[in-house]
Amino acid sequence: MSKVALVTGASRGIGRAIALRLAADGYSVGVNYASSAAKAEEVVAEIVAAGGSAVAIRADVADADEVNAMFATISEELGSVTVLVNNAGITDDGLLLRMNADQWDRVIATNLRSVYLCTKAALRGMIRAKGGRIISVSSVSGISGNPGQANYAASKAGVIGFTKSTAKEVGSRGITVNAVAPGFIATDMTDALGEEVTEAATHQISLGRLGSPEEVASVVGYLASDEASYITGQTIVVDGGLAL
Ligand code: NAP
Repeated sequence: MSKVALVTGASRGIGRAIALRLAADGYSVGVNYASSAAKAEEVVAEIVAAGGSAVAIRADVADADEVNAMFATISEELGSVTVLVNNAGITDDGLLLRMNADQWDRVIATNLRSVYLCTKAALRGMIRAKGGRIISVSSVSGISGNPGQANYAASKAGVIGFTKSTAKEVGSRGITVNAVAPGFIATDMTDALGEEVTEAATHQISLGRLGSPEEVASVVGYLASDEASYITGQTIVVDGGLAL
């Protein structure tokens, strides 16, 4: 079977590291992005320079038509997707009493509706191929909750419930569905929180430091590999002991 991976939100941060990891593992990679075209092309160039194959594909993962067009493009250019990584995500934090409905809707659409849209689009080919891997990036916020992140935590808890239900639906087709739940990982998303918040968070992490995008990517690489063939419906926490 050809090895084709689609990583959503792969222009930066954790998604970028996952795209590079899967390319190193022999996958042709679809590098999805929303607006950072130059950064996505840099990821593609890095993969190609290392002898791999990749294409950058712009699509808003919350938009059904754009998601379907993205799957048509990747299927034409690389082949049918065998590993889908639902990674694209945003935050729009605020205490609940001050959170407006647009903040709620945008985060739920980008982080959860996207997982439904992309997984459904990927499953068609995977069911035909009688196998495949779906891996979604949740968060420890979706397990433990976090003040100021009711929208984000709800979206990430939703990803965990979605993962369990879908794993039960498609297990008989040879498809595994899992999630990873990172803690505090050094990316643009956490940079935006500022030094004070980062410092306070670091004190709560057993390993005493932020994680790197590569440390999340290695777990995704494992879940995509043959080594993980009997794992499904699980959420693997990658947080250095933050949620203990
Ligand atoms: P990031 O550095 O902010 O990167 C976000 C990525 O998502 C970018 O590639 C961005 O594309 C893409 N994206 C955003 N909205 C999109 C949309 N509508 N359609 C397509 N792509 C979109 O974030 P990150 O820290 O790497 O986070 C990646 C995932 O891990 C997210 O799901 C996040 O919730 C989760 N996570 C992160 C942490 C952490 O500590 N960093 C912890 C737990 C979970 P553009 O570059 O084009 O904007």
